[in-house]
Amino acid sequence: MPTKPIVGLHHVTAIAGDPQRNLDFYTDVLGLRFVKKTVNFDDPGTYHFYFGDDAGTPGTILTFFPWPHATRGTVGAGEVTHTAFSVSPNSIPYWEQRLASKNASLQGKGERMGETVLTFSDPDGMKIELVGHAESAELKAPRFADVPVEHAIQGFFGVTMLERDARQTEAALALLGFRKMAEEGNRLRFSAAGDALGNHLDIVVDPQASQGRPGAGTVHHIAFRSEDYEDQKQWHALISKHLRVSPVMERDYFRSIYFREPGGVLFELATDIPGFAIDEPLESLGEELRVPQWLGANLAQLTRHLPVVTLHKAGEEVRA
Ligand code: ZN
Repeated sequence: MPTKPIVGLHHVTAIAGDPQRNLDFYTDVLGLRFVKKTVNFDDPGTYHFYFGDDAGTPGTILTFFPWPHATRGTVGAGEVTHTAFSVSPNSIPYWEQRLASKNASLQGKGERMGETVLTFSDPDGMKIELVGHAESAELKAPRFADVPVEHAIQGFFGVTMLERDARQTEAALALLGFRKMAEEGNRLRFSAAGDALGNHLDIVVDPQASQGRPGAGTVHHIAFRSEDYEDQKQWHALISKHLRVSPVMERDYFRSIYFREPGGVLFELATDIPGFAIDEPLESLGEELRVPQWLGANLAQLTRHLPVVTLHKAGEEVRA
């Protein structure tokens, strides 16, 4: 048995369309930091963007494969339907106003399990939520953002998955150490031990839900946190007794194993180490293209067609 529990989400990875539009939305509208501009390691002719808090702390990282000509997907059963961030409960009015002023129209404001939830879509139709939830984690507000520190996005609250039948998914979550904490209507809420960022996983059960189709605006996979390589090895041994697990993959900023939960959502277990400052200084994260060394001689050829993107660094003077 692994000795260290899984404490919550490490990152969420989704598919986007236009890279510049994606970059602008998450930095200029949501005020996240662009922590890494790299390529998709499995398809190096395309970008892989990472957004997060100031340091790209596990539990705050939303990543995208932006394909300029991606067609829009549809969300369905066996997929993540909503990705939620925590903001201070006092920040809800600020965000309502900010989203309206940035033309990111609200699609819903409601109470869920005693907390206020704002729901809206990113430019590719991906559903994002802001949950008024007091996190105990220390906030590392992005240095290049014009969102006042007290209103900054703190990191992940969690995700919602849609399933036709939750039973087998529940078993997979139990294996990872998530316990059912609450139920509201057809929504089941699971939590990992402790109070780390991204430790809420909701399953919405709808036996009639239709199948989704991958594409822009859909989540590709969600990754949970593993502390280090030895811990990941122990989890690999345990999970592989129940589900098919990939070998360990070197992702430069972390190491990963992948497995699909029985309902269809692709899960990953990613290490907290070594992190995003391994190939560029913390001060200038995301400003230059970073690529894995093994691409070596092919680099120029592979990155030739990457579209040029421009990062705006709002608030640079005030916080840097
Ligand atoms: Zn991943």
